[in-house]
Amino acid sequence: MKKNPHSSGEDQSTDPNEPPDDNKQLHKCETIEDGTEAFMQWMGSSDKRSLKSDNALVLIKFVNDEHTVLYDTSLAKEVEVKLSSGIPYCNNCKSDDCAHVGFTICVEQLGRHRRDGKEETIEEIVDS
Ligand SMILES: [Zn+2]
Repeated sequence: MKKNPHSSGEDQSTDPNEPPDDNKQLHKCETIEDGTEAFMQWMGSSDKRSLKSDNALVLIKFVNDEHTVLYDTSLAKEVEVKLSSGIPYCNNCKSDDCAHVGFTICVEQLGRHRRDGKEETIEEIVDS
């Protein structure tokens, strides 16, 4: 039932012909960890609503316990992550362990103080 195009244990298979960290400016977001990293980067950025910044992912909208809308700058489109009883599921990747999910988990932890399903502004979330 669960289809994951990426095999999860792929850290072992390092290709010797592939340079490890050569193309850093185009950061690819694929795993939960990538999403966490993108979140840290976004939190540290001065303009959190700029879609043209260096941020791999930008938070567009967050409704606690319902859904999160992110803007993925490498895909150049909005990605919706659905939340059902606190479990995130990415509508773009059809996955529950992609970078968008990782980012959403981080946002959720920030917004956890509210549980009324109301939309919060980005400022409310990051400044609280
Ligand atoms: Zn995703």
